[in-house]
Amino acid sequence: MPVYEYKCVDRGHRFEVLRKLQERDEPIECPDCRSGNTRREVSPFGTGISSGCYGSSGSCGCPGGSKFG
Ligand SMILES: [Zn+2]
Repeated sequence: MPVYEYKCVDRGHRFEVLRKLQERDEPIECPDCRSGNTRREVSPFGTGISSGCYGSSGSCGCPGGSKFG
């Protein structure tokens, strides 16, 4: 299962959860403050990144490929 990153909207907590793909957008409780007001952080693997940005040269201006490499 992939890991998804969530953000607690109320207090700004960040946490990662191992979830099934189908459940990634299901509501989830913040483990720190038990708030249900959370949202999934958009993954760098999503559509917000330009194509051809999977290299490690950094020439595209992405925040570094070290996170994935
Ligand atoms: Zn929280």
